[in-house]
Formats: sequence, structure tokens, C-alpha cells
Amino acid sequence: MRYEDRVERARRLLASIEKNHSPTALASSFGAEDMVVLDLIARDGLAISIFTLDTGRLPQETRDLIAEVRHRYGLDIQVLTPWPGSVDSYVEQYGIDGFYEGVDERKACCAVRKVEPLRRALAGRRGWITGLRREQADSRAALNEVEHDAATGKWKFSPLADWTNDDVWQYLRANRVPYNSLHDRGYPSIGCEPCTRAVKPGEHPRAGRWWWENAGARKECGLHEIPIRVVETVA
Ligand code: SF4
Repeated sequence: MRYEDRVERARRLLASIEKNHSPTALASSFGAEDMVVLDLIARDGLAISIFTLDTGRLPQETRDLIAEVRHRYGLDIQVLTPWPGSVDSYVEQYGIDGFYEGVDERKACCAVRKVEPLRRALAGRRGWITGLRREQADSRAALNEVEHDAATGKWKFSPLADWTNDDVWQYLRANRVPYNSLHDRGYPSIGCEPCTRAVKPGEHPRAGRWWWENAGARKECGLHEIPIRVVETVA
């Protein structure tokens, strides 16, 4: 499929979400892909809200981008933070940087700072939109544009599922969309500051996420492991 067709297909899906699946929101971590989706939503004036999870450990560059997006687009961005008591409990049990001790300790931190706030964000909504792409990781290879979890009743939409990395950057540059300055410093994938580092040329784009863990480990934080399966293609 050509780049122009991919853009058009993503626009159609977003319009369909607004029409048929409201209230559904964009879950944005303000990475490159999320900025494409946000720009498409703003460009078409879609009534789709946007939220982000402020884990309390985000890099300053991400905070700066959120401020820039607010200013430039005039969008209302809902910010969800972890429950302070849950963070206190984690720190008491594992230490502030306990995630370096092992995968279980890391997942416990992600559960407190990301997964629980996501569940709160989704309460009362029919679904969520992500910037996930199949190309990003083996764990995302089976990703579909439209998925549904019968257990929770939530829809999950990934309008860029079949986009390439080049498509993403072509869109951002052609439309002068602001993006996280860390992308220009060797960070293809950006998460929390202590858990993300730049990758070397030729390394996998997600090699900088939780880099201390086994190279073959599943590099996911749990946000996208809520069991969801495919039910349909683009409306
Ligand atoms: S990415 Fe790191 S700091 Fe952020 S929630 Fe997960 S373990 Fe905690």
C-alpha cells in the first residue's frame, strides 16, 4: 500500500471511531507514532479525547513536548498519575529504582505507574487508540487495526498498524508535526527516563527499553498485554 493510502486509511478509521465507538480516547505517550495519530485527530477536528500516563519518571523532553502540544494544538490532554499510596508501597518494598533488580520487580513498577492508571483512564470509555505498529516488535507482529476484548468490552484501535517507520517520519516532516527531541538523539522508542536509553546503529529499535533485561525478553510494560483479540477490519 502506498504512503498516501495508509494516511487515508488511518483517517477513515479515526473518523469511524468517532462516529461508531465514542467515547474512545487516544492513549498517547507522545512518541513519534502517537504524534501522527494526534495530528490526524486534530487536523480532522475529531471529537476524540487524548490522555497520557505521567508515571512520575518521564524524561524532561517528554514533558516539554506535552507543553508544546498543548500550546500549539490547544488540546485538552488528560494526565493520569499513579496512586501515591501505591508508589509509596512499591518504593518501600523494592526501592525507588527496584525495577533494575529483575523482571518481576520491573513489572511491579509498571503495574503501579502505568497499568493501573490505564485501567482508570479506560473506565467509562468504550475503547482506546494506540500508535502501535506491527513492525515495532515481534510481540506486535499479530497486531490488528481493530481489536476487541470480550472480557472487558473494550475496543483497541491501532490506525498505524501497517505503517513503516519511514511512513511515520514522512508524515511528521511533511506536516511539521512536533516530536520528542530524544528521537534525534538515538531514542527510537521512549518511555520512562530510568528505563530508556539510546540505541546504537543497527540495534533493534526497542533495544533501549529495559536494556538490562535479557535480550530475548518480552519488552513490554503490560499496557498492551491486556488480552484482546481481533474481531473486524476497518469500518
Ligand atoms: S518503565 Fe521503568 S520507571 Fe516506568 S513504570 Fe516501568 S519500570 Fe517503572
